[in-house]
Amino acid sequence: MDCLFCKIVKGDIPCFKVYEDEKHIAFLDIDPCVDGHALVIPKKHSNAFTEMPPEDAGALFEAVNKVSNQLMDKLGCSGLTIGVNTYASAGQTVMHTHVHIFPRIAGDGGGTTHSIIRAAKSSDMAYIQNLCQKINEK
Ligand code: 5GP
Ligand code: ZN
Repeated sequence: MDCLFCKIVKGDIPCFKVYEDEKHIAFLDIDPCVDGHALVIPKKHSNAFTEMPPEDAGALFEAVNKVSNQLMDKLGCSGLTIGVNTYASAGQTVMHTHVHIFPRIAGDGGGTTHSIIRAAKSSDMAYIQNLCQKINEK
C-alpha cells in the first residue's frame, strides 16, 4: 500500500521519533504549527480513527497520554491541544490514522478546539434536545 505513514513505520522514510512501543510510534510533524507538534500513530494501517477497532483506538489514546506527559515534562509547556482530523471534510490529508499533539503555553496566540469550527445552526435547547434524540436512536 502506498501510504506515507506506513513508510515511516517501516523506516523507509525518516522521521524525528519521540516515542515507540509495540503498536505505536510518535514523531515530530514536518510542518509544525508549534514547537514540539507531534503525531502519534498506530503501526497498523487504518484510514481514519473511526475505522479502528475500539480496542485499538483505546490503545492509541494510551500512547497519546504517554506522549502528552513526555512533551509536558521535556518541553516545559503548560498545556496541550490534542486533535484527530477525521476524513477530508475535517481536513485529514494523510489517510493513516494519527493524533496531533500541540504543546501550548499561555499567551501563545493559538485558539481552542472551539475555534476549529463554528457552524452550529442553533443553540436553542429544543433544537439540541432533538439532535440528542437523533444520536441516541436505536
Ligand atoms: P492531517 O492534516 O492529515 O491531520 O495531518 C497530516 C500531518 O502530517 C500534517 O500536519 C503534515 O505536516 C504531516 N506530514 C505530512 N507528511 C509528513 C512527513 O513526511 N513527515 C512528517 N513528520 N510529517 C508529515
Ligand atoms: Zn498507512
